[in-house]
Amino acid sequence: MLVATCTALIVAGGRGRRFGGPLPKQYALLGARPVLSHTLAALRAAPGIGRMRVVIAPGDELHYQASAAGFDLPAPVLGGSSRQQSVLNGLEALVPESPDLVAIHDAARPFVRPIDIAACLEAVAMAGVDGAILGVPLLDTLKRVEEGGIVSETLPRRDLWRAQTPQVFRFAALLKAHRAAAALAGTEVTALTDDAAVAERAGLRIVMVPGSEDNRKITTAEDLQQLSTMETRAALGFDVHGFAPGRAVVLGGISIPHSQSLSGHSDADVALHALTDAVLGAIGAGDIGTHFPPSDPQWRGLSSDRFLRHAVRLLAERGGRIVHLDLTLICEAPHIGPHRQAMTDSIARIAGIGSDRVSVKATTTEGLGFTGRREGIAAQAVATIETPKR
Ligand code: MG
Repeated sequence: MLVATCTALIVAGGRGRRFGGPLPKQYALLGARPVLSHTLAALRAAPGIGRMRVVIAPGDELHYQASAAGFDLPAPVLGGSSRQQSVLNGLEALVPESPDLVAIHDAARPFVRPIDIAACLEAVAMAGVDGAILGVPLLDTLKRVEEGGIVSETLPRRDLWRAQTPQVFRFAALLKAHRAAAALAGTEVTALTDDAAVAERAGLRIVMVPGSEDNRKITTAEDLQQLSTMETRAALGFDVHGFAPGRAVVLGGISIPHSQSLSGHSDADVALHALTDAVLGAIGAGDIGTHFPPSDPQWRGLSSDRFLRHAVRLLAERGGRIVHLDLTLICEAPHIGPHRQAMTDSIARIAGIGSDRVSVKATTTEGLGFTGRREGIAAQAVATIETPKR
């Protein structure tokens, strides 16, 4: 199935009893736009998703129109009294177009990454597979708790995943499975908490596609408040240190053999100094000299990782987190390429983030200026952070 048509069916029929706000969560504002509007934008950005259709609760038409404005969608489908009934209504509404695939997605998951949606579409295209769902491995320890709050058992979590959406299926197979499940009653129905459960019951073969923790479902008003009060900031750091006699330079927390060393503040790790200033800049907390004066002898020769750790701690105390660190080293020598990965991993470890959130680049100045004359190394860094709005 090289070019399959895939329609996204967005389930926005919930009334959000746990949410408790004046509006169901999918219509509440996240930043300047309703949650559903963010969700639609994410799906539209995913390669492979063609049409989109939304299932809403009767009476929510005006809220829906405000969220779907600008997306040029067909009329919404009215949902039923349960999620399962709402999905079935949506699937029945897609029968005239009968796409090859249908991607069922929760309206309250606005942070789904287009790349993960594409991975699901790729997985479901494999031979012998009827469905592909996004999920993340369970990291928390599971406890069984008895009446009175007494812990009675620790359950093995091996092989356990938390299912997210989208859940992508061959349309005809899922429609058949949902029609069959509609005839069930009682506890058999309440056990079918997602579409994969309906499909599993029908014997369909489903693969789990590793997704992202970011693809969280907005459930409570606090979730939304926390999310919509974060803002993104970026700030620059710059530093230079000159060469002195020696046999190695320290860059990004690792020692690199070289014909000279760097001289100056602490261990003269120009990379970590630029990164520290970038993080401090993003929270308006001065610069490295404010916190660690170069005149103070106690920092002499000290490993610079503590400066970056200090900046990251100040950020964390404000409720913020690092989104990305980008570093450019400017020098003729040493060659950075062979040490790039080790440097990336080292910076990630010091900053307490994944290596995929760190970028290390290097350039020369074509023999020009002090770096061209091999008198020293310059570094510039950009820190992108997320921090609560004040
Ligand atoms: Mg410095």
